[in-house]
Amino acid sequence: MTDTTDPVRRLPLVFEAPRRGKPPKHWFDLSVDERKDAVVAMGLPRYRADQISRHVFDRLEDDASRFTDLPAEIRVELGQQLFPRLLEQVTQQTADAGRTVKTLWRLHDGALLESVLMRYPGRTTLCISSQAGCGMACPFCATGQGGLKRNLSQAEIVAQVLAADQMLAQGLIPGTTGRLNNIVFMGMGEPLANYSAVIGAIRTFLAPGPNGFGMSARGITVSTVGLVPKIRQLADEGLPLTLALSLHAPTDALRDELVPINERWNVEEVVEAAWQYAQTTKRRVSIEYAMMRDINDSVEHAHQLARVLRRRGEWGWVHVNLIPLNPTPGSRWTASRKADERAFIATLEGHGVPVTLRDTRGQEIDGACGQLAATHP
Ligand code: SAH
Repeated sequence: MTDTTDPVRRLPLVFEAPRRGKPPKHWFDLSVDERKDAVVAMGLPRYRADQISRHVFDRLEDDASRFTDLPAEIRVELGQQLFPRLLEQVTQQTADAGRTVKTLWRLHDGALLESVLMRYPGRTTLCISSQAGCGMACPFCATGQGGLKRNLSQAEIVAQVLAADQMLAQGLIPGTTGRLNNIVFMGMGEPLANYSAVIGAIRTFLAPGPNGFGMSARGITVSTVGLVPKIRQLADEGLPLTLALSLHAPTDALRDELVPINERWNVEEVVEAAWQYAQTTKRRVSIEYAMMRDINDSVEHAHQLARVLRRRGEWGWVHVNLIPLNPTPGSRWTASRKADERAFIATLEGHGVPVTLRDTRGQEIDGACGQLAATHP
């Protein structure tokens, strides 16, 4: 018999995030075929699955008691078995004249997560979470300080999108009623550390009606610290998703400190994987670089960054997205001086590197990049 317990502490050897009871199973966890199998298991004909999906993805209705074209007793059973409530709203805060909305959600086991809806002229973006907490421990990021609570289920990821589309449909965001155009995995968690749930959720975002939200892959951004084997796997999915790589430093000495997973996959390895991603998918990769005063924001750092990113002598594969650091409570890092920002940008442009400075939405509600901590009394 193999002993799977730790000989010293007699504890089970569990390397994955703890699961205090799995999240309840939901329609959003299932593939199209699995949904058909599920309705058959309830004694319904297969075509009922499409009917149910039309309620959800076309009409944004996830309360099974309102699926009035189904027999009443089936609605009850369906509600209990496949449409449990996954997200319970705890608080909601708005900023930027109502155009930025941060929602704190509680999950079935009490875990908390946040998502942030941002309306821009002509488009609406949702920043979603892939994990409750995060295990990557980047010292400047609020989420990183609390550690990983657990992975989100596929359905818990999809439910954030449904909730946002419902808010938009109800006219709760001033000036717009349409659906989401963009989804960015830039909330809590490391999406590539929860790969199968994230890719399953993405397939639901992309699936045409009635089986999904019918979104465009170009509108979906997966942001990662740089888990190299998972970047390769993502490239091989054959989906033109946008990849964002959180680089934040051009040298290993500095990146080891800012993004600790760099000790596993270093700057050269992550940039090469990102370049490969661009070759395979024909999608320009976004390099995220949080500007930190007197840490990574000198002209010399900008020259080093340009050297690191130049691949086969060209820049066509990449775009640098500078993020003014959002200081988190107790952090010793703060945002760069405006003059240093300008010099950094000018240096990159001097090399021909495409570069933009991210606007910082939702700062005053702690809803900006890296501020999601999901603390609640
Ligand atoms: N785990 C993913 C998603 C995290 S959040 C990743 O690391 O890419 C999305 C972006 O916000 C990342 O680039 C992250 O490094 C950045 N970020 C984290 N804390 C920040 C802060 N305090 N200020 C600005 N950006 C921050």
